[in-house]
Amino acid sequence: MADHPSTSSPLSRVPAVEKVLQALGEHMASGPLPRPLVTEEVREELAAIRAGIRQGEEAGDFDRIMSRIRARLDSVARSRIQPVINGTGVLIHTNLGRSPLGPGVAQAVHTAAAGYCNLEFNLDTGERGRRGGYVDRALALLCRAEAAAVVNNCAAALILILRHLAKGERNEVVLSRGELVEIGGGFRVPEILETSGAVLREVGTTNRTSLADYERAIGPRTALLLKVHRSNFYMEGFVDSPSTEELAGLAKKQGLPLVEDLGSGAMLPTESLCAIPHEPMAAEVLAKGVDLVCISGDKLLGGPQAGIIAGRAALVAGLKAEPLFRALRCGKLILAALQETADEYLRGGHGDAASPLLTNMLAASVDGDLLPRAKRLAKRLKGLGLDVCVGRGTARCGGGTMPKAEIPSVTIDLSVAGWSVGELARRLRESHPPVIGYAAEDALRIDLRTVLPEQDDLLAECLAALASGADS
Ligand SMILES: *Cc1c(COP(=O)(O)O)cnc(C)c1O
Repeated sequence: MADHPSTSSPLSRVPAVEKVLQALGEHMASGPLPRPLVTEEVREELAAIRAGIRQGEEAGDFDRIMSRIRARLDSVARSRIQPVINGTGVLIHTNLGRSPLGPGVAQAVHTAAAGYCNLEFNLDTGERGRRGGYVDRALALLCRAEAAAVVNNCAAALILILRHLAKGERNEVVLSRGELVEIGGGFRVPEILETSGAVLREVGTTNRTSLADYERAIGPRTALLLKVHRSNFYMEGFVDSPSTEELAGLAKKQGLPLVEDLGSGAMLPTESLCAIPHEPMAAEVLAKGVDLVCISGDKLLGGPQAGIIAGRAALVAGLKAEPLFRALRCGKLILAALQETADEYLRGGHGDAASPLLTNMLAASVDGDLLPRAKRLAKRLKGLGLDVCVGRGTARCGGGTMPKAEIPSVTIDLSVAGWSVGELARRLRESHPPVIGYAAEDALRIDLRTVLPEQDDLLAECLAALASGADS
């Protein structure tokens, strides 16, 4: 390893940043990456190449270095947030942004984003108004609650509730050991409790908790009874826990609030949409005597990322008066999206462009909607060199909700001679827009329940482009 490389040393053959930028010319201009970022990426890649050479690696010629840099820039460009076609069959796919927003909601976001709005301005008096006044009212109506409030997500909602209700001498939260759950994405109930400053008082066992267990745990330090919906797993067999009504009765007798973290946030009876079990709704648990419930905005509700709290007016007012509420409040884009989502439910449309997109996706029928689309797609792709079949699949709710719900669905099953399923999947991820499917036996499957009907043309174009790549 020479400290002063001669002109022919491998290190000295690594091109200068400027030379690479010039050679990139068109590649850079046509891509989405801003020039300072490109420059920085090039600098880092050249440094990595030099470090490799010092370790004895071959850098290759200029063309090889350029292709390495182009691959890196393509990868960085792909990491930008961008639309993808979800062919996984997982409706609330956390990695793919959970619930998609329908056209009405997207338009509401666009309108709110594109200019000023009366976010905190009272148009009657011309004075300062309440942020989210309308959306809180609409959500309260939807949950049949006295009042509602909105924060960033359901985790934030639970932390705010615990912060408000469990403090000082009364900071114990009574919770069944069967509900000490991890929801995913780092949401672990015991850790959320700890973060909020509350002290966990576990009762019962993993599979069985009785009302007497709760009763015994209640003392002068008890702040509230908490119930957490087991969103993402099921327990079967020798299991028991008191009903919500029984817990509510106990809470009332003891003068304690009963809080339920419901998570998934179904607003319509899920069993009425498709052949899946009933998921408890906020309105139902409140009717059973729960004082406060919190749900996610972007799970079964099908709205934007948000945490919705509904329940007793005095409790909700207390939450809104917490300094923490200010730190967790939502911006105008989220509130605009949530307002439109709530209105879509309240208007009560069904199965059209004016009803919540997620409910339409759940309700799409196999024979009436999905199969005809699949057949049209398969016909269109005939003779292009792809092996395309229409298959039957199982879609899922996802997002850590309703793990048992198997939703019958229809798939496009793809294979290409000479390509592994992994290779096919990789190439589809590189298409514009990226298409994400799932592997099954010898085919890559694209579940049409999660592909929006208006994306069918785009999907066909992506697959046709893939076919032309397969020919070459
Ligand atoms: C998903 C879920 C959460 C977390 O919701 P986020 O909106 O993702 O913060 C909390 N509790 C339950 C029961 C859930 O299912």
